[in-house]
Amino acid sequence: MAAGTQKSAGVPVVDGVARIPGFVNCYTYSEGGETFLIDTGISRKAKSIVRAFKGSNVPMARVGKILLTHWHADHMGGAAYLVENFHLPLACHVDDAPFVDGRVKDPTPLLLRLFMRIHHAPVTTSLKDGDRVGPLLVVHTPGHTPGEVVYYHPTRKILFSGDALVERKGQLTMPAVRFANSLERAVKSLSRIRELDVEVLLPGHGVPVKGNFAALLDDLIKRAPAEFLGRASGGDRGLDKDSHAAV
Ligand SMILES: [Zn+2]
Ligand SMILES: [Zn+2]
Repeated sequence: MAAGTQKSAGVPVVDGVARIPGFVNCYTYSEGGETFLIDTGISRKAKSIVRAFKGSNVPMARVGKILLTHWHADHMGGAAYLVENFHLPLACHVDDAPFVDGRVKDPTPLLLRLFMRIHHAPVTTSLKDGDRVGPLLVVHTPGHTPGEVVYYHPTRKILFSGDALVERKGQLTMPAVRFANSLERAVKSLSRIRELDVEVLLPGHGVPVKGNFAALLDDLIKRAPAEFLGRASGGDRGLDKDSHAAV
């Protein structure tokens, strides 16, 4: 094991990192006696997170913080249950905090809201770009939501990318355009992520990617203007900037 890392709850990925898979991936990262839970899935996922901790013999009390990558219901859905039952502190970016704690009305279309209900939860720590949470660096990568962040471990070169960057069929991509708050900003954030030296990518959707990160991201950065901003084709697809659906 790498220095200071411990067994984490879920399916092991690399030292200290485990994945609780599903439609949305939740991850646990353990180092120095503390565990961080990155994202919580839809609300029904909370109990499978608790089961994963039990199954791995990691006490829930070891969770120092729940770290949300963004406010969408498929990533924060389980947070309310975990906060209420285990008194876990919850952190997210300051720009997404009003959506997480309910100060701002959920802009998700009604039909989607019925499918994935938002359960608001109190935010203990509002994060901003450059903050440190234990060994993890907070990098603000807005676009998918205003307060989307990725969590980066500089010495381990591990990146928890939420929905700023996802994996599909061996390629890197972004979630469907209709779910983005600002595609222009989301595409710009890809270049910010490219500045990070990453060996293990842990995306919010898809499977973890070990190695070849720079080449895969360069490929996405090349494709993104045409695929997400409709620039090469001259079309207007991807310009629905006011859509905030919950994926
Ligand atoms: Zn998502
Ligand atoms: Zn999302």
